[in-house]
Amino acid sequence: MTPTDSAVIPTAGPLEDAHAQLAAAARHLQVNEGIHEMLARPRREMQVSVPLRRDDGSIAVYEGFRVQHNFSRGPAKGGLRYSTAVDLDEVRALAMWMTWKCALVDVPYGGAKGGIAIEPRDHSASELERVTRRYTSEILPIIGPEVDVPAPDIGTDEHTMAWIMDTYSIAMGHTVPGVVTGKPVSLGGSLGRASATSRGVTHIALLAMAGRDMDPHQTTAAVQGFGKVGRDTARFLAAAGVKVIAVSDVDGAVYSEHGLDITHLSDHADETGSVAGYEHGEAIDPRSILLLDVDVVVPAAVEGVLTADNADKVQARIVVEGANGPTTKDADAILADKGVLVVPDILANAGGVTVSYFEWVQAHQAFQWSETEVNSRLEDKMTKAWHDVVGYASGHGMSYREAATALAVHRVIEAHRLRGLYP
Ligand code: NAD
Repeated sequence: MTPTDSAVIPTAGPLEDAHAQLAAAARHLQVNEGIHEMLARPRREMQVSVPLRRDDGSIAVYEGFRVQHNFSRGPAKGGLRYSTAVDLDEVRALAMWMTWKCALVDVPYGGAKGGIAIEPRDHSASELERVTRRYTSEILPIIGPEVDVPAPDIGTDEHTMAWIMDTYSIAMGHTVPGVVTGKPVSLGGSLGRASATSRGVTHIALLAMAGRDMDPHQTTAAVQGFGKVGRDTARFLAAAGVKVIAVSDVDGAVYSEHGLDITHLSDHADETGSVAGYEHGEAIDPRSILLLDVDVVVPAAVEGVLTADNADKVQARIVVEGANGPTTKDADAILADKGVLVVPDILANAGGVTVSYFEWVQAHQAFQWSETEVNSRLEDKMTKAWHDVVGYASGHGMSYREAATALAVHRVIEAHRLRGLYP
């Protein structure tokens, strides 16, 4: 079967988009069909049933996945997602994007992703701990600091990582901090990791504004998602002078033409669990958040939110992809026609995996870096990746997504070429 065989690739969804992006890069780089085929398929996949004894004594069973797309440049690396939308194809797409992201920011990893098809908000902390420990024990044979290193994603956090680390460490008979990143700082997590993705999104957003001669103090933005990525992105953008006039989460959206007070709004979200009901903003339809009359939009929630159905209504000049895969390939084409700059996920949100790499290095060194050092190294990596992408895009007349993917695919193929094909 060829990499474009419709029996292998679904006809819609994130995996189709990921394959289309790889195919475009393969055409541009004149990659031979065999190598393209290798890159189109994950190196290893594990699907597990995860039984959970609920607090009331009943048993529920969830599907869990871990997909390792590539190891050519180093151990597999990628987040763990808890959401009812998780399925194998979504995890495959996210794992492939992790491979390109790690190569683009030049950290020595391949790509992976994991997930459990569970709604975390329906479970107590002790149920989430049990399901996490059971999932970890099921995938234990294929994770480890030199094999595959999970991190937080949608619906998971530093507590999830602490439980994975503890479960893995008990099985090994000694503490293994390097098996996960995004751990609590008191357990060997890195200073600056919790806000690293948002900090990176903000660096890239400011570079994109500068590239279009936009003054942050004269710029408005809307952010979709108010979780680990969206919330601090809104905060950092506001701190840089950008007027953040709307934010949303799964329960609602709030708007203020004068700019939202993100710190105050965060307190409200902490108290109530949502941005909805915030009294110093107007409630708006969450589906309109990316279509508002603003200069910059940051989708920072889930994939597939900018589609052929709404992309022509985008009014912003710049889309900065805080989320993975928020723009479908059809929407990408529409936005390009409209002259909207789309800064791709594998560049825009790579700050998280960059500081995850720093956390892994610190675990190996058994030495903690200062937050200033972490943030400064993060800025260096993001700025270098930005200039690599912009230079490649202008040199080859490509979109930033095409350029970022081509650069990353080239680096992965180069590692593969140097290592050779075994046997
Ligand atoms: P999170 O679970 O902390 O937050 C997700 C946010 O999105 C929440 O505010 C939730 O209410 C909102 N949301 C969920 N479904 C939604 C929907 N259908 N419409 C609107 N809002 C919705 O997750 P996160 O870690 O912030 O991840 C967000 C995105 O960023 C994901 O695409 C993730 O893969 C990507 N990402 C995360 C990191 C990281 O370090 N956490 C790094 C890189 C990329």
